[in-house]
Amino acid sequence: MRAVTVTPGVADSLQLTEDWPEPAAEEGAILVQALAVGICGTDQEIIAGHYGEAPPGQERLVLGHESLGRVLEDPTGTLQPGDLVAGVVRHPDPVPCRNCAVDQWDMCRNGRYTEHGIKGLPGFARERWRVQPKFAVGMDRALAPVGVLLEPTSVVAKAWDHIERIGRRAEWKPESVLVTGAGPIGLLAALLATQRGLSVHVLDRNTTGPKPELVRALGATYHTTTVDELDFEPDVVVECTGAPVVVIAAMCKVGPTGIVCLTGVSSGGRSLDFDAGALNRALVLENNVVFGSVNAGRRHWDLAAAALTQADQAWLDSLITRRVPLSSYAEAYSTGGEDIKVVLEFEP
Ligand SMILES: [Zn+2]
Repeated sequence: MRAVTVTPGVADSLQLTEDWPEPAAEEGAILVQALAVGICGTDQEIIAGHYGEAPPGQERLVLGHESLGRVLEDPTGTLQPGDLVAGVVRHPDPVPCRNCAVDQWDMCRNGRYTEHGIKGLPGFARERWRVQPKFAVGMDRALAPVGVLLEPTSVVAKAWDHIERIGRRAEWKPESVLVTGAGPIGLLAALLATQRGLSVHVLDRNTTGPKPELVRALGATYHTTTVDELDFEPDVVVECTGAPVVVIAAMCKVGPTGIVCLTGVSSGGRSLDFDAGALNRALVLENNVVFGSVNAGRRHWDLAAAALTQADQAWLDSLITRRVPLSSYAEAYSTGGEDIKVVLEFEP
């Protein structure tokens, strides 16, 4: 069968391998026909040779961690043939650490977890894959056109779950949220914020392209100013740019008893001159919290499936700005333009 593969660590080794082996039985009892994989910055980093790890003893890594497929067979009866399914990306580490020991792999403490299409496990960009029931997330069949957004939605479902858990440390009735960055993660974070009845503000530097209208369609406000220039103090900030200037500005801008959730990964190596003492003083005197969030646990995947079902399907569909067939796979991985989410589709 066909699979999109790379040799990790070797730049531009991306290829469509025609004779990739069928998924091994040990990968899981549920056999899945691939429908689509979403593409994100992590895939680009792997293609550039900066990141990624093949399974032990193998040279090539199958790409793809944002999955959507249709169940072909499930002898365990967990899912039915024809059901839509996505595979959980991360698997617990082998030690396991205290969090992985209770299947909270998203909170792994030793970094020895594995991830499909990224780190030590084959990805989902192959015509058929297998998954164990506990890593298989079923979805409403009506989500077929947009179910490939489940993985990025699981990431923001975790972010919101943790924001709300932190909020419950005291009386907490948030009204406003600022989302910085209107990429797929930012827009999905904004979607989940509107589902919570919050007043939602999204900040991005783009003045053209589909982002302003997508934000307005959510009933949210689109800003292209700096964070400092905003005329309100948000109760919650979900930071999705990873840009150091924006990260610091978000920490300074959040209101009293505010919560700042950092989801963007910075590249590092860049110093900023800012008053750390003043920031510390503001965080202490206002009881503010700044925390990081990555990946998602099983519960968050199920919350994400519910959030997608509840959302406007046409709005979700408009996040997918390009759909590329497997035969033209290289186009799917080309960057540039005003894409929000590019999806590689598998012909039936
Ligand atoms: Zn662990």
